[in-house]
Amino acid sequence: MNTWQDKEEFKKIFTVKAHILWEKELQDLTPNEVYQTVAYMVRDLVSEDWIRTNQIYAEEKAKQVYYFSIEFLLGRLLQSNLIGVGMEDVCRAGLKDLGWDLDKIIPEERDPGLGNGGLGRLAACFIDSLAALQLPGHGCSIRYQYGLFNQRIIDDQQVELPDNWLVNGFPWEVKKVDKAVNVRFGGNAYMRPDGEGNLECVYEKYSSVRAVPYDVPVIGYHNHTVNTLRLWRAEYSREDMYRELSMGDRHRAFRYKNSVQLISRFLYPEDSTEEGRKLRLMQEYFMVSAGLQSIVRYYKKKIKESMYDFDHYIALHINDTHPALIIPELMRILMDEEGMNWEDAWKVTVRSVAYTNHTVLPEAMEKWSIPMFKELLPRIYLIVDEINRRWLKEVRKRYPGNEDMARNVAILWDGQVHMAHLAVLGSHSVNGVAEIHSQILKDSTLHQFYTCFPARFSNKTNGISHRRWLIQSNPQLADLLDDTIGTDWRRDPRRLLDLKGYSSDGSFLEQLGQVKKTRKEIMADYIKKKYAMTVDTSSIFDVQIKRIHLYKRQLLNILHVMHLYYFLRDNPKVQITPRTFLFGGKAAASYGEAKQTIRLINVVARMVNTDRRVSKQMQVLFLENYNVSLGQILFPAADVSEQISTAGKEASGTGNMKFMMNGAITLGTMDGANVEIHREVGDDNCVIFGLRANEVMDYYIHGGYSAWNMYGQDENIRQVMNSLVDGSLGYGETFDMLYESLLDRNDEYFVLKDFEPYCKAQVEIANRYHDRRHWLHSSAINIAHSGYFSSDRTIMQYANDIWHLRKMIH
Ligand SMILES: *Cc1c(COP(=O)(O)O)cnc(C)c1O
Repeated sequence: MNTWQDKEEFKKIFTVKAHILWEKELQDLTPNEVYQTVAYMVRDLVSEDWIRTNQIYAEEKAKQVYYFSIEFLLGRLLQSNLIGVGMEDVCRAGLKDLGWDLDKIIPEERDPGLGNGGLGRLAACFIDSLAALQLPGHGCSIRYQYGLFNQRIIDDQQVELPDNWLVNGFPWEVKKVDKAVNVRFGGNAYMRPDGEGNLECVYEKYSSVRAVPYDVPVIGYHNHTVNTLRLWRAEYSREDMYRELSMGDRHRAFRYKNSVQLISRFLYPEDSTEEGRKLRLMQEYFMVSAGLQSIVRYYKKKIKESMYDFDHYIALHINDTHPALIIPELMRILMDEEGMNWEDAWKVTVRSVAYTNHTVLPEAMEKWSIPMFKELLPRIYLIVDEINRRWLKEVRKRYPGNEDMARNVAILWDGQVHMAHLAVLGSHSVNGVAEIHSQILKDSTLHQFYTCFPARFSNKTNGISHRRWLIQSNPQLADLLDDTIGTDWRRDPRRLLDLKGYSSDGSFLEQLGQVKKTRKEIMADYIKKKYAMTVDTSSIFDVQIKRIHLYKRQLLNILHVMHLYYFLRDNPKVQITPRTFLFGGKAAASYGEAKQTIRLINVVARMVNTDRRVSKQMQVLFLENYNVSLGQILFPAADVSEQISTAGKEASGTGNMKFMMNGAITLGTMDGANVEIHREVGDDNCVIFGLRANEVMDYYIHGGYSAWNMYGQDENIRQVMNSLVDGSLGYGETFDMLYESLLDRNDEYFVLKDFEPYCKAQVEIANRYHDRRHWLHSSAINIAHSGYFSSDRTIMQYANDIWHLRKMIH
């Protein structure tokens, strides 16, 4: 790896680079120009390794995985890349000599707008781990011009502002014009005899979109591996534009140009309902077709093996169903372009593709209307139709007369294309993302598929990059760990277990407490600057940050906050362990209940914070615009990690792991990876409450739950519920939609059922926090066991069990 020898060399190179880039004297550079200069310098450092990495993969014909994901929630890249090449200190010292503070330069980078939440962040951690472990694997996605909205809170409500994250450019990307491909939409497709007794496909009158790749280096941690994240942008082809223009219809020409550019303009919120569905389908096919065409082109040019052996050299992974069209797209390429017959093409396809399921929420299962699908992707539709026809024929032969079976595994049914069914059928591997989730897939969501293909199913519990979420986000804790157990954990996070030997060491625990205090002060400074609010850093920092969703139950949290407030207001002499309740998260713009939850939190926050009788004991704040960068401040500052989804609903969660790694205690339900966190640390070091997944399931199947009964039986529930609609909150505000969801629609997510157990769990938290030494011990145990939740472990499991990759050292 190239490096800067010392700060003197850094300053020399910086000066030359800045002069070339900006044609200015150093003292006139803006902070953003300083950021960009350093970013380009980092790229220069890795450029040889990047080329060399690709050269080695091609020469050695290493098997490579392409991880297709509609999102990559990367977070800022300057600091993580500086850490990766081991140059953060040199850079900091050099900049300091030149009069800049690296910590003031880092925030100049905008968070890339390439993801929404957990699924996208997982993809980012995965490519980070692939490079760190020197495994040949690349990311494939879309270069959205606008990310998910920037969230502002105005008059207590979420307001969505466009996230034009590319305004100042993106110094990490390299446009590869020569690697552009065409993606075709619309037109007609039909089969006709080819004259040799076979059928061939005619595809005509389509329109073409030019897909241009932008490559971003994915830099291995302290090694020479530099993998690639390839982001596709839709461009109009000048030829098509001129052809339209020459036909004399300027309006048509500009309509064409605009419709093409729309394809990669916006990232859609994953929880959205109606909006932009057709464009979203275009995005999915666009990403998959462009990505796969470029992989096949590379395979033929550099690997030069038979297409029948494609799966020996290439693994295609699909992160949820958004890229599932890679299955019919590979079939299309193998048959229409490579002349393979159906049976061989199907074998190669299934052996190449592997699928990760991310949700069991029925409303989140991707389905497309057949008429829309057919019109947009006529050739792909023919292939999906044939996959479905052959599959149902086989099913009906195996299970004669069992139409339930057919319905449960059909790809085309009731006028819809069922993407999860396509993904399972077209993959050799299907995995869930936490043990409980993988079990639910086998037992219910995909039960019929499981009976057909039991060997396909496995679990790969999610993980997080300890490089971003510990080394980078919490350097104070990282330094303390180095001083206590040495530095091996940085390469091998399982070594964090060595901390168990110090979990009862008084002087270590004191230092751990000091680190937490420092991080809470950093958080408090941020809050002071941004919200002009002073929070008590000796209070419990109780944090719930994640997308706002009914199943994640931010409502349960805020209802408890309301209850606690009423209790303190009515019992002014009672002393409790002081609490600071912090919330953050975006609601999909079209998700009414989620947006009303945000308003409720803000209204309650004002009521609590302005009441002098209680505000010494409790404070509430909704932090605007939760994203990776804000997370990097919040996770290290948390004492309590709120993971309170309805059991059986959260596939895994990864926020829970980030909190744990930073020493927070989980307050959670037996859901997703909480189950495994609980197994790792035990009852003494986390607080579990509420219905279990099987109990929730029983209620769904057999009924027997009445939210109105809960309301009738529990005075505390009555009090908080009434205040949602009687105008007693703040300035007479009401929350009808939430009230209806909890009572009139019988509380689908069991908020009221779990209310009392949650209140008790909160008391348990307060009691434990009171015993400072015991709390710090628990904190240490959590950090020690968090190594299991490193995405390095997860990626090794994918690499060994699914992709069959080998480490490539150079
Ligand atoms: C980790 C992360 C998530 C996922 O959080 P969950 O609590 O697992 O839902 C979402 N958004 C951001 C910015 C994250 O860093």
